[in-house]
Amino acid sequence: MSEYGMTIGGESVDAKETFDVLNPATGEVYAQVPDASVEQLDAAFDAAQQAYKTWKRDEAARRQALHAAGDLLMAKAGELAPILTSEQGKPLQEAMIEIMGSGWWLKHFADLQMPREVLQDDDNAFVEVVRRPMGVVAAITPWNFPWLLACWKIAPALLAGNTMVLKPSPYTPVTTLAAGRLLQEVLPAGVLNVVSGRDPLGAHMTSHPVPRKISFTGSVATGKRVAAAAADDLKRVTLELGGNDPAIVLDDADIAAVAPKLYGSAFQNNGQICSAIKRVYVPESLHDDLVDAIADIARSAKVGNGLEEGVQLGPLNNRPQLERVSELVSDAVSRGARAVAGGKAVDGPGYFHEPTILAGVEDGFRIVDEEQFGPALPIVKYRSVDEAIERANGTLFGLGGSVWGGDAERAAAVADELECGSVWVNTHLALSPGQPFGGFKWSGVGTENGHWGVEGFTEVQVRHQAKG
Ligand code: NAD
Repeated sequence: MSEYGMTIGGESVDAKETFDVLNPATGEVYAQVPDASVEQLDAAFDAAQQAYKTWKRDEAARRQALHAAGDLLMAKAGELAPILTSEQGKPLQEAMIEIMGSGWWLKHFADLQMPREVLQDDDNAFVEVVRRPMGVVAAITPWNFPWLLACWKIAPALLAGNTMVLKPSPYTPVTTLAAGRLLQEVLPAGVLNVVSGRDPLGAHMTSHPVPRKISFTGSVATGKRVAAAAADDLKRVTLELGGNDPAIVLDDADIAAVAPKLYGSAFQNNGQICSAIKRVYVPESLHDDLVDAIADIARSAKVGNGLEEGVQLGPLNNRPQLERVSELVSDAVSRGARAVAGGKAVDGPGYFHEPTILAGVEDGFRIVDEEQFGPALPIVKYRSVDEAIERANGTLFGLGGSVWGGDAERAAAVADELECGSVWVNTHLALSPGQPFGGFKWSGVGTENGHWGVEGFTEVQVRHQAKG
């Protein structure tokens, strides 16, 4: 028996098998959760299909339910946040922000009005484009923001009239199981089903005949597998994948003002954010000052168990991720980079890594070219702005990017050159539920959030009514 049940057709359901979820701050088992069987996955899709028949019909009821769900999450944030910290690692205060943010997301979509598109209204005909729900959605999420990213899918999908089967990452299933149970208080049975399992359960979802849409957030490698599995059945897909966001600092930037903002946008959630700053390009003239300023902040960061007061950076979420970050840092150092702050994993239990600032790094080093997804930031010198733009774009990633400078118009003109889904000027990671989010190139297919996000959970239908 596991403490946290899955939710199938409104019921709490256990499984024959369970698997362990570790607390990344201690490396010890935090919870045992159900390992869903294929039959249970079938039952979840069946429940979603049944619920769809009525859920799709009453938009006002859907809006009311999403509001109630948002309120409930906010009311229970104090109970859910410690669960999130214990399985994900992030400091408790950030876990609170994630849960409160998920409530905000649901309530935003509860009120979102979709633009009406009347193409013709004259003596001959009334022609309108309407958006129809797709049916059952299979939603698959990663471990960095397990519940907020689930709500990026739940809110627009349910608003549009779809029902859902949701599978969290095997590293962080507990918050999603707990929140999924909680939401049964305000959602009709079968509208939101939550199943837990290892990676093969995700593959079963993508090849299952019931879902018409797969909404996936995770790595590029898995995203390609999801797209291939969906192609066979022409399922619709939205893929939110990895990023390697550049920040270009211009020569008129005020380093003292910019350094803390760059640091915050690179190290929030311990760097485990798809659109965190993952490489900084700086002119030679400002390089040393910027490196010193950011390294000072990194050295003063308090690293520890996220449940302890005052901790700013928790552990990485899992051992493979810790090993990956350590490997990329060691590779850079072995090729001549300098770790000006940090530089290594922390001994002892838990998956801790020192916040690391690397200078003397070049494009071509793995830590610049690949997504590190952790607390290590390479700072790269450039000689001309054109060269910086070329290097920023010289990758198959295209999620976000930012430009920093004293002359905002000049910085905006440089930002216009970046090939990515979000460009920011003198900020980074500024996200909101009404703002579309997605990636160019390998960073994704489709868009989440705003009315664009809702449209991603609909099919376009033309309604042509003849007159006269
Ligand atoms: P991952 O791809 O390993 O796993 C993501 C999810 O996919 C998990 O639930 C996993 O169980 C499931 N899965 C694994 N194999 C599957 C398969 N064959 N078919 C279907 N599902 C399968 O990613 P991760 O390590 O959990 O997350 C980190 C990655 O996610 C990073 O690359 C990060 O940039 C990316 N990410 C992107 C966004 C975005 O919005 N663009 C947001 C957060 C994270």
